[in-house]
Amino acid sequence: MSGTGYFRDNIAAMHGYVPGEQPRDRQYIKLNTNENPYPPSPRVGDVVRDFDWTWLNRYPDPLGDVARDACARVMGVERDWIIVGNGSDDILTIITRACVDQQSSLAFFAPSYSLYPVLAQIQGAQQVVLPLTDNFEIPDDVISRIAGTRLLFIARPNAPTGNAFPLDRIDQLCGDYAGIVVIDEAYADFAADNCIDLVRRHDNVVVTRTVSKGYSLAGVRFGWACAQPSLISGLMKVKDSYNVNALTQAIAVVALDDQSCFTANIRRICATRERTAAALVAAGFQVLPSAANFLYTRPPGAAADFVDHLRSQGILIRYFGGDYVRITIGTDPESDALISAL
Ligand code: PMP
Repeated sequence: MSGTGYFRDNIAAMHGYVPGEQPRDRQYIKLNTNENPYPPSPRVGDVVRDFDWTWLNRYPDPLGDVARDACARVMGVERDWIIVGNGSDDILTIITRACVDQQSSLAFFAPSYSLYPVLAQIQGAQQVVLPLTDNFEIPDDVISRIAGTRLLFIARPNAPTGNAFPLDRIDQLCGDYAGIVVIDEAYADFAADNCIDLVRRHDNVVVTRTVSKGYSLAGVRFGWACAQPSLISGLMKVKDSYNVNALTQAIAVVALDDQSCFTANIRRICATRERTAAALVAAGFQVLPSAANFLYTRPPGAAADFVDHLRSQGILIRYFGGDYVRITIGTDPESDALISAL
């Protein structure tokens, strides 16, 4: 039997998620994986330095209650509305495992986060792919097309397009849909508004968050979901027993509680985003309005050539095929380097 012959058919047939490049060969200006260019809260440094490593012989708190409380403070809810995970990808996996099987289907928009189809493939579930309109909005007939599906993923702000779908449209979808709506708010820290209120109003809504972007902590792997307690207790049954390690739990608490460091970094990134967008427009690029820490933009020439040109200048951006590229917002000097390479 060949190696893949041991796997379930859907696993043997699938490709797996392809993360953005993390090259080690030379120093690049990395504008390809939507990381935050600024360091995290200095309190994270204190926690790492003072962490009592002799306790690492013990398992961490399985529910991560102290970290849940920190998430609850950020969301304005109680602890039992929160589940924590090893990054928000872990949370998305838990929700998928809890809600769909080989007899059911899940729905998501295109283009959107390229992990959603992979989660469906792993689970062996059917996929209902909903193309966005030409201006990357939710199509009018979506509710009839998702009838009978169990799970709907909505990234808001969307990735890779960066736009935030209108709140009232999402509110209406949540009310009309019979399944679970996952609102993936990985980039909501950079947006003017968010969907927390929808969690209070609808018992079928889960909002997911992460410290990877707004809190500059992609390396520690911490994310959470907020939903009504009955949904959270169902998800708890599916998670790994100890899905968030002890050091990560401790780091997440101090980072989430340092809102002044967080807000300062968000402000800087949003200012750089607007400046970078204006420079791109001046250079003849078409730029979508962004509520995230990246820009989705169409170069005046071939997109693939533009990506190669930037790479030759030591700048990495993300290309998914087609006419558009996605550029993460870096520091001001990084943005200046990008602008002079245009
Ligand atoms: N959702 C979206 C839309 C993302 O782009 C990402 C980052 N790739 C994630 C979720 C996952 O983030 P993390 O697992 O680092 O929390």
